[in-house]
Parts: sequence; structure tokens; C-alpha cells
Amino acid sequence: MYYNDHTIVYFNGKFLKANEAGMDLYGQSLHYGYSVFEGIKSYRTDHGTRIFKAEEHYERLKRSAELMHIPFDYSASELTELTYELLERNGFSDAYIRPLVTCSPNMSLSKGQKSYLSLLAWEWSNGYLADKMKIMTSGFQRPNPTAFKVEAKVGGHYVNSILACQDAKDKGYDEALLLDEHGNVAESSGANIFYEKDGTLFTPAKGSILPGITRQTVFEICDELNIPVKETFFKPEEMRGADAAFFCGTAAEIVALESLDDIPFTKGWNDTASEKVQQAYQKRVRLLSL
Ligand code: PMP
Repeated sequence: MYYNDHTIVYFNGKFLKANEAGMDLYGQSLHYGYSVFEGIKSYRTDHGTRIFKAEEHYERLKRSAELMHIPFDYSASELTELTYELLERNGFSDAYIRPLVTCSPNMSLSKGQKSYLSLLAWEWSNGYLADKMKIMTSGFQRPNPTAFKVEAKVGGHYVNSILACQDAKDKGYDEALLLDEHGNVAESSGANIFYEKDGTLFTPAKGSILPGITRQTVFEICDELNIPVKETFFKPEEMRGADAAFFCGTAAEIVALESLDDIPFTKGWNDTASEKVQQAYQKRVRLLSL
């Protein structure tokens, strides 16, 4: 699904075939999850292939590396240029791009000495999740912000995401909603969350979430469409049975939620402000005006 004999990746300073790239067995990234990465999407538009919010994603990658003390010298514009070349070499337009920064051999628990950049991409033409999702409040909390740098996108953090997401699937739900250590709603395993009440959107304030680039795009869209939006801390009880809710993220885009803990969101999706945001997002990524 992710690559075949012809797939090209950028690895360790050059473009090569995916099946010729290999990872060192003695690195901290493999053993301890000490790596940083991004999830980016490119879209076919009337003006050619466009990487959505490339600069924001690459600035976040650089910041994640900095927070982890991983040396990483590429600039956002160099990274963007390399990514366009990667897409072109593979003939991709609608694609998911996965930049990954790993560390050189070092088994000790000290900071990274040297890093390697991999840029991977695969075609991704249809939406991630077309249907409304049934979600459950997870028993797994988000990583505690005093134990991890939660605003960084770090490989090891996603062990928590895998545990929560698989647990939700095993229980018959599509996704997990994770809380912070105070019992406030935080986010899903890989997306931010909003709910809607009386025409206003609410989303968890920063603290225990990855502050998503899509979340920021939702704020921009709400500003343009005059939809009131509030960043605040709230419990799952406050959003159960609300008018509507959605997950947002680069991969998920804007995906409507059907229910939380089997309690449905009550308004018809097409009558909500959330649906307007979803439509506007689709236009934005393809450079169409609102
Ligand atoms: N939270 C988590 C835990 C994520 O993995 C993601 C996906 N990167 C998001 C939120 C959404 O972030 P973005 O909109 O930048 O993709």
C-alpha cells in the first residue's frame, strides 16, 4: 500500500528507491521512539500540485526537533522544495507526505548527535474517513505535559495513540477521545476536536494537545465566515448530545462525528456551522475561493 519497486524516497541526503533505504539498527529512534515527524498533504488544484500549509508543517518539524534536542539544519523552504521534487519524481498530486527525522547510532539516553531526514509520500486521493464517526471517551489519557513536550510531534508519543485507538476499535467504536490529566477533553489519537452548540464552536485550549495546523485553519475559516469559536477547557459531559462535533487534522480533514459514548449529536449535519467549515476547508485545500 505504501510503496512498490518504483517508489522514490528522499533519504539521507539523496533520492533513491524506497526498497534501497534501510534504517540503522543501533539508533535511539528505533529503540526509544526518539524521532520527530510530520503528516502533510498535497492536492491537485487548477494551478498544479499544491502542498497545503507546507511552511507551517516544516516550521513545526523544526520546532519539534529543537524541543527534542535533535540537531536538524534544513530550512522550511529547502524542505518544501525537496518535497515538490519528491512528488514530481513519483508522479503524485493528491498525496500524503511523511517527513521523518531519526537519530544516528547511540544507545545512551542522551540527546541526538546527528540526524537523518527521510521524506516519504504515497498517493491519497479520497478522503480519509468519509462517514460520520462513532467515538468513545478513552480510559487512556493524553501524555502528561510535564512528562512530555506534547506540542512536539514525536514518534514515541504515538504509542499512547495506538493504545487508545485500538482499544476504541476493539470496543466497536471508530475512534477514541482522550482526556487530559484533569479529565478535560483533549483530542483523538491523531486529530483535534471541535463541538458546536447554538452556532458557536468550542475546542480544547492548548496544554495537552498537539495544536494542529488544521485546527488553526478552522479558526481562519471561522473568522472569514463569522462563526464564533472558543478555545476552552471542558469535560466530555459538556459536549455529549451537543448540536454537532467534528475531528480535524491533515489526514482526517474535517470529519463529522455521529456520537460520543453512544449519545448522538443532535442537529442534521447539513444545518450546522460545522458543515460550512467542512465545505470551506475542501475549497481551501484546492485553492478555490469560498
Ligand atoms: N493531534 C494529534 C495527536 C495528531 O497526531 C494530529 C495530526 N498531526 C493532530 C492533532 C492534527 O494536527 P494537524 O492538523 O496539524 O494535522
